[in-house]
Amino acid sequence: MPSPTLGPRILLRKLREVMAGQETAQQRLDKIVTMIAGNMVAEVCSIYVMRPDGVLELYATEGLKREAVHKSQLKAGEGLVGMIAEQAIGLNLTEAVDHPAFKYLPETGEELFHSFLGVPIMRGGSVIGVLVVQNKTRRHYTEEEEEALQTTAMVLAEVLATSGFLEATQTVFSGTVELRTQGLRAESLAEGIALGHVVLHEPRVHIQNMIAESVPLELERLDGAVSHLRQQVEDLLAGHEALGANDSADVLETIRMFAHDKGWLGRLKEAVQTGLTAEAAVERVQNDNRARMMRTPDPYLRERMHDLDDLSNRLLRYLTGAVATASRTDLPDNAIVISRNMGPAELLDYDRSKIRGVVLEEGGKTSHVAIVARALGIPAIGQATGIINMVDDGSAIIVDGGSGEIFVRPSPELEKSYAEKVRFYATKQERFRALRDLPATTRDGQTVTLNINAGLVVDMPHLHESGAAGVGLYRTELHFMMASRFPRLSAQVKHYKSIIDQAQGKPVVFRTLDIGADKTLPYLRQPREENPALGWRSIRMALDRPALLRLQVRAMLLAGAGIDLKIMFPMIADVQEFVAARDVVLKEHAYLATRGHALPQSLKIGVMIEIPALLWQLDDLLPLADFASIGSNDLVQFLFASDRGNPKLIGRYDPLSPAALGAMRQIVEKGKQHGKTVTLCGELGGRPLEAMGLVGVGLTSMSMVPSGIGPVKAMIRSLDQAKLWAFMQPLLHSGRHSIRAELAEFARANGTEI
Ligand code: PEP
Ligand code: MG
Repeated sequence: MPSPTLGPRILLRKLREVMAGQETAQQRLDKIVTMIAGNMVAEVCSIYVMRPDGVLELYATEGLKREAVHKSQLKAGEGLVGMIAEQAIGLNLTEAVDHPAFKYLPETGEELFHSFLGVPIMRGGSVIGVLVVQNKTRRHYTEEEEEALQTTAMVLAEVLATSGFLEATQTVFSGTVELRTQGLRAESLAEGIALGHVVLHEPRVHIQNMIAESVPLELERLDGAVSHLRQQVEDLLAGHEALGANDSADVLETIRMFAHDKGWLGRLKEAVQTGLTAEAAVERVQNDNRARMMRTPDPYLRERMHDLDDLSNRLLRYLTGAVATASRTDLPDNAIVISRNMGPAELLDYDRSKIRGVVLEEGGKTSHVAIVARALGIPAIGQATGIINMVDDGSAIIVDGGSGEIFVRPSPELEKSYAEKVRFYATKQERFRALRDLPATTRDGQTVTLNINAGLVVDMPHLHESGAAGVGLYRTELHFMMASRFPRLSAQVKHYKSIIDQAQGKPVVFRTLDIGADKTLPYLRQPREENPALGWRSIRMALDRPALLRLQVRAMLLAGAGIDLKIMFPMIADVQEFVAARDVVLKEHAYLATRGHALPQSLKIGVMIEIPALLWQLDDLLPLADFASIGSNDLVQFLFASDRGNPKLIGRYDPLSPAALGAMRQIVEKGKQHGKTVTLCGELGGRPLEAMGLVGVGLTSMSMVPSGIGPVKAMIRSLDQAKLWAFMQPLLHSGRHSIRAELAEFARANGTEI
């Protein structure tokens, strides 16, 4: 066996010669398997290629029967080769037959061979084939041999791609790949249908040169890139440069740690030593990391591996000179942005006239990027695991935000039927628009006030288009999240004033800053916390740093001169927090009055009910507050101790459950007792079936995503509230996990539109 580092180097040099040759693609593969077998002193070397239908087909072999080429096939997960492809993991076996996954393929004649070494062939993070060597003797392949085969597999990935093998298989076998991510994991974040072309939020880096001309030179390039990367991270941490709004201090700290991680750097150097260029070495190590990431069940570890993946991408971009972020100036007119995850500010950075849809590998319904997508009226899907590796910049794609389905490279028939759906959707919207000026009154005469949630100036036209009564929740933090530093008093006054002006006399409820957990400010360093959702956030931060709260309240009071101003506080956990926050407002009001400023005509101060502890303080709290608003996104998350953004928990607990609806009912009752308006402003209110449950327990005011107003009004106008409550009452004590199915059945039986 050649020395571990020289072995692959010689092989890589030979591979380069083959790549530069004039042979047909098949002849090249045939040559390559012979070369690998010779270099690895193995009797067999075979290449299996993954077809778009997921079947692994034998494409070339040295040592197995030639007749089996293009005949032998294995499904992903079938046999040793299928297992390697499915798990993206190498297998090193002294006796292949003893492995439980072994599958005998008689046409190959492989019964002669005992030891088996197989590795996945990966490109851009996905498995595109499997490379195998086999020997007659029972032997254990060394770690160096495994490494060498992996390096070879990586170069082979390029050979397969550049020889046209991958494209050829796609047209031969399907012509189009329709990927349905419907089911457990993909989740609709925002309704609507979009047909368009993929824009990768983080463009993929394609490596041109895989094989090193000179190893010392490549080591030097790698060193240079790593130093640059470290400097970049330091600059980011020092706040001298901002690469993106979601580069929170937390992520950067982790990235800094990885940038100095000796193990990672050692692996990169070793990969260069085997004869790869610096960028190919980064991809090689990144492939291993991704394969590990796919296998690890621990979400925390996976998250850290994602950080390492981000770091590798930065390194790759530097080494290949690729641009750092999606070029925002040359977006297609129908851009569908695809990303692992995204902060709300990043979504807002895109040209709104061109962006038609968003697909995220992560991101739950109540994440802030989802909220922004809904505000912009863009269909969005989350939890589309693996989507990034299935698409390329420019791929045709259909996003169905209603069903949570995504179709990549759809067939013309499918495109036609979706274009039809889009027309149907438009007609439905037309019907909702016809309800615009009609009251949201139930058949039995109960009127429900419908407001919209907003957080951006772009939301405000929806207030009038939808015919909503007002803005029930204005999330002020979005303005802060988009700024590059804390907005000054004058900027805040201007912003609130423009919202009030655009409301044209309709009421607006301003919520004070709700920062923390998934809402971070790029310019505010927050301490690292074990449980940020339960941590130093929102009103807690505001009360500890009252200067910020004072400034914001002052801006609201000044902007609200002459109107009926409403302010409410998020994340209140006890009466004293509300009292303290209210004091800040009252003191600020008094201060401005002594200075002779024009002030609001009236001032109402409300409390958000988001923390379950308030359920036992309502008798003391409600007399002090002017109104209460149920923040059901957080209230439900804390009631069930179930992270609102955790993909694993989506659907585990249902807001339409006796527990959650019982809590809502209790708040409604207390509101009535104390003569205080109770409203709800979580995402629940915007979904007709959920809204029906809420009206059922007695809510008479809700604030929601603007696109929910029409459907929810249609539901209310076809509902008998008293009949529904009579139906629900026993169900709230039935011990059921959820009463969703029962509510849907009630709607069907009573002609209620949901
Ligand atoms: C809520 O928690 O329901 C809410 C309206 O606040 P946010 O979604 O902004 O946390
Ligand atoms: Mg909240």
